Amino acid sequence: MIDVVIIGAGGAGIAAARRLLAAGLNIQILEARARVGGRAATDTATLGVPADLGAAWLHFADENPWTPLAREQGLTVIEREPDWRADHQSEFERNWGLIEAAAAAGLDVPVSSLLPDDAYRPRFDGILTWFAGVESHQASCLDIARYAESRHDWAVAEGLGSVLAGAAAGLPVQLGTPVTAIDWRGPGVRVTTAAGTLRARAALVTLPTSVLAAGGLRFTHALPTPLQQAFADLPLGSCNKVFFRVDPALLPPETHHAVGNPHSARTTSLALRPAGQPLVMAYFGGELSLELEASGQLEAFAREEVALAFGHDLAAGLQGSLVTGWNQDPWALGSYSAARPGAANARLQLAEPPAPWLHFAGEASSVTHYSTLVGAWRSGTSAATQLIETLRTSP
Ligand SMILES: Cc1cc2nc3c(=O)[nH]c(=O)nc-3n(C[C@H](O)[C@H](O)[C@H](O)COP(=O)(O)OP(=O)(O)OC[C@H]3O[C@@H](n4cnc5c(N)ncnc54)[C@H](O)[C@@H]3O)c2cc1C
Repeated sequence: MIDVVIIGAGGAGIAAARRLLAAGLNIQILEARARVGGRAATDTATLGVPADLGAAWLHFADENPWTPLAREQGLTVIEREPDWRADHQSEFERNWGLIEAAAAAGLDVPVSSLLPDDAYRPRFDGILTWFAGVESHQASCLDIARYAESRHDWAVAEGLGSVLAGAAAGLPVQLGTPVTAIDWRGPGVRVTTAAGTLRARAALVTLPTSVLAAGGLRFTHALPTPLQQAFADLPLGSCNKVFFRVDPALLPPETHHAVGNPHSARTTSLALRPAGQPLVMAYFGGELSLELEASGQLEAFAREEVALAFGHDLAAGLQGSLVTGWNQDPWALGSYSAARPGAANARLQLAEPPAPWLHFAGEASSVTHYSTLVGAWRSGTSAATQLIETLRTSP
């Protein structure tokens, strides 16, 4: 009999699996995609050099559990801080202070209602779309204020997705196996896939909240209403990337960031030589990302932004491209979770198991490190630790 079936082989699923195996439990991971890593994936085939389609930064790098795992695998952690904080620091701090003050006063209102409509506002709103994947009127001030401060942000030359792939090596993962239903009347669970039904003493579900809210997994016995509400209150925002291969002679020696149009919120965060690679990357967030993904215009917009920020010589040197489509990806349905205004506490709800044999984990259930691989890791290991305890004490 399987002790724990883990649904999803992203950061949370991989972290949980490693913890459960170390405790000597019998586990099985079921993954819908043909690869592990979920929202962390490195593509090397398309442009001939590593490009992280999703997670790229080891945020909180000095306390990030994926940092030592990268080193153990012999991968190159680039301990160089990004230069994106350089300008407008005082205006940024002022707006962030307003968000923190409102949260400290017990408010959980839209970020947009707290900020002055001054010349800096479009810039701040743009940054928020990259940070949260949503517009300032869709973001909860309490949720934003609870995010821990990342003092170190490092990249991995071979790609952060490669670190997850390496960490999953040897784990019992069945790829290409979407789970369609879970019977959790208990004790134990019955998990349905196209390949049949699997029985286990417990299940750990690590699916993105937008997939759960869309009913991507059927629970044969209704989940508690507050838990279903938490899926809906923590939707994934939208972020996308466009990469271009470029002659390295056109690039600075080290990674450099710039904003496409500093006077508009509908703009991109541009990176020259991301993770040290001969690439130009444009990062989209919020409505702009959502709209351009839907209309197939991400690449055209990225080319315009590169021309705007760096001139026509570099724009003319953009070669083969690689474009993500996270919203249309059925196993993600977005980028990372953002709590709706008034619903910051939904993250706590998500971490509350509806039965001793059914747990949920994933970045969305982290109150302080949501939207990152640190949150995914911590939520996965925390659920695994609870399951180890439960299974040890129950027959
Ligand atoms: C564009 C972008 C940029 C990002 N940048 C960063 C960054 O720089 N640093 C950082 O730390 N984080 C970043 N993130 C966020 C980070 O990728 C996520 O927080 C993290 O990967 C989430 O891990 P998870 O395990 O919670 O979810 P996921 O990685 O989504 O894992 C869930 C897994 O479940 C699988 N699945 C879905 N449905 C089913 C089903 N029915 N049956 C079986 N399996 C299923 C999915 O395929 C997936 O593998 C970024 C994300 C995006 C999209």
